[in-house]
Amino acid sequence: MTTTARPGGDGDAGRDRTVPWFPDATVLGYPRIGANRELKKAVEAFWAGRSELDDLLAALESLRRETRGRLARLGLPPGDGSIPGDFSAYDHVLDAATTLGAVPERFADLVAEDGTVDLPGYFTLARGDGERAPLELTKWFDSNYHYLVPEIGPDTPLRYGDDRLIFKFLEAAADGVTTRPVIVGPVTFLLLSKPAAGAPAGFHPLDRLDDAVAAYADQLRALGVAGAPWLQLDEPALVSDAWDVPRARVLAAAERAYGALAGELGRPERPALFVSAGYGPLGDALPVLARSAVEAVGLDLVRGPLPPAAELATLARKVVVAGVVDGRNVWRTDLDAALGVLERLRAGIGEGARVAVATSTSLLHVPHDAAREKHLSRELRGWLAFADQKVEEVLLLADAVAGGREAVATRLAEAAAARRARRAHPGVRRAGVRERLAALTDAAFARAPYPERRAAQEARLGLPALPTTTIGSFPQTAEIRRARAALRRGTMSEAEYRQAMRAEIEQVVRLQERLGLDVLVHGEAERNDMVQYFAELLDGFAATEHGWVQSYGSRCTRPAILWGDVARRGPMTVEWTGHAASLTDRPVKGMLTGPVTILAWSFVRDDQPPGETALQVALALRDEIADLEAAGIGIVQVDEPALRELLPLRAAERQDYLDWSVRAFRLATSGAPAHTQIHTHLCYSEFGAILGAIDRLDADVTSIEAARSRMEVLADIRRAGFGRQIGPGVYDIHSPRVPSVDELKELLATAVAAVPPGQLWVNPDCGLKTRGYEEVTAALEHLVAAAHAVRATL
Ligand code: GLN
Ligand code: ZN
Repeated sequence: MTTTARPGGDGDAGRDRTVPWFPDATVLGYPRIGANRELKKAVEAFWAGRSELDDLLAALESLRRETRGRLARLGLPPGDGSIPGDFSAYDHVLDAATTLGAVPERFADLVAEDGTVDLPGYFTLARGDGERAPLELTKWFDSNYHYLVPEIGPDTPLRYGDDRLIFKFLEAAADGVTTRPVIVGPVTFLLLSKPAAGAPAGFHPLDRLDDAVAAYADQLRALGVAGAPWLQLDEPALVSDAWDVPRARVLAAAERAYGALAGELGRPERPALFVSAGYGPLGDALPVLARSAVEAVGLDLVRGPLPPAAELATLARKVVVAGVVDGRNVWRTDLDAALGVLERLRAGIGEGARVAVATSTSLLHVPHDAAREKHLSRELRGWLAFADQKVEEVLLLADAVAGGREAVATRLAEAAAARRARRAHPGVRRAGVRERLAALTDAAFARAPYPERRAAQEARLGLPALPTTTIGSFPQTAEIRRARAALRRGTMSEAEYRQAMRAEIEQVVRLQERLGLDVLVHGEAERNDMVQYFAELLDGFAATEHGWVQSYGSRCTRPAILWGDVARRGPMTVEWTGHAASLTDRPVKGMLTGPVTILAWSFVRDDQPPGETALQVALALRDEIADLEAAGIGIVQVDEPALRELLPLRAAERQDYLDWSVRAFRLATSGAPAHTQIHTHLCYSEFGAILGAIDRLDADVTSIEAARSRMEVLADIRRAGFGRQIGPGVYDIHSPRVPSVDELKELLATAVAAVPPGQLWVNPDCGLKTRGYEEVTAALEHLVAAAHAVRATL
């Protein structure tokens, strides 16, 4: 068994010699994708049949080795469990599910007799196999990472059977590195799951807590045998109160789970347990963990305040892992402030406090290394901390805790100077933007009353009942992508590129005319991405070259960095939308990305509240809408697909969020005169908590996803008395399937029965950029035919 007692002999938590030493500095997790997206390349080659399973396994092993080496070079000692063993070939929630054999019945054949699922089977769960739908993908807390949703029913197996975690632990040990394995804890696992198909009404995955805990106990014993000194159990579900079970039940589940795993199961039969949360404060879950026998508890001290002293005192017999370096953003830490928090934390815990320094969450949400971004100004680069820089910050803070501030005085001074330079940079505070915002009155946030708008728009647009339209994008074809790549490489000139995009727009317009759509779009051919496109055109944003972060599985995004005050240099979309409008007599809808979505999919400055930053983005969009208006565009859509995903995890914070996001949307759109129709698009169908906010956006037309849930959402809409126009999607664009005219007619009939037909639009669920022309053409043909048929019955 690995010994991790600190040199000098005493075990951790000071008092208990059997508890292994917990490292003074660690990170809760590290990017898994690889500095050069090795994971993506390796798994995609395997999926495409370009490599064998053995090649893939070798590539994954070398990626893990490379990551361990990298963390060791950065200064995390390889011998003490400070290097997390958190690698996943696709998703850590799927890892937990397969470890427990918790595989939906439709995939039962993927589980071998001994309870294991091999790597090809694991990928089948993640991606489906043509006949069987994969596990559902959904957002991991309030981040842009997506996990696979386990399906748990009364009879779903929950049995420890897979030794992937131990395999990885031993692999590292053979390399001389003692890692700290990381898994999703049982309470979070069950709360993130959904009831399996066919589960009886009222069943909740949490009903299976005891079975899950028994399986985890077996895994803990196996890890104990393998010699893992520490195990990290991630329980971020404890910070949220947004679950579909009462808070008391969540707390009781945590009490029961950790009573069994830490109390009944003793050391050294199991590793020492570190329960980490992250993504927010533990709140009333902290006393539950404090009462349990787990050896270490993690606190997110970036998103949450320091717990009250009385609660801290109850942690005196545990290691407290202080998340003071933000795992979610890309900015250098205010080290002086972090040290202040650490000092107050230690004082609060009292005599003999054992505090380790850590990140607030896994670093999976940030790119690898800011030093590689050579094209950024040295100044901006100096303000940034990606994963590697954050590892260094954690180590520096631990040195300061151990040796006093003096021990690291030079580095603290240097960090403070970089922060001061950031504050003083002219792009960070632009007088023009600030003055304009300060001068805004309430009038800038309100449009003419809806009835007046409705009449003016009817007169201007003269649309039929059940008008047909699309959500904005048409297929991003291989030619479009080739043109963009050629432009980047310099083998195509800017003028040639613009010509190619104009030609594409013309084709899209002609197609829509042929299909008989009522409101046309330009098709978004020129947009590499709905946020990136605007970020490149606005002051205050910077693009990275290597700043990839995992979105899910092998998918990565490269968010822009919103570092300064936002200002528009000039029109951003008028050329394209105007070109489309010049080609047709039908109304063309302009297409913008809303302020909340631009924030949600970027790394946003941390030196002012997001609501203020959102207003700056909104001002730029407001000017864009004015320019579109001046170019004769009568309809503008402002997409806010991320409105719901930024919704805070704790109910108490929601109102403030919804207030600032609604204000930003209204600032962006309220400059539009009554006769200009403002649309918005939201990419989901569960509105529960935000229906009121959607109403307050005051858009004339709101398109939403509805096809997949077969229009269920309309019941909510009707209950809420939503009085403006609505376009429930009838064509599910997430699949290549072409819906028949009859099917679409049926959905429309449902919609007409639920909502007054005068309020209804006919459109797909979302943009068409990921689809192919063949299916899109057929589906839209059917959509127009169905609309005409139902229109005739009104
Ligand atoms: N207008 C965008 C499109 O059609 C909207 C995309 C989205 O909602 N995610 O692609
Ligand atoms: Zn959408």
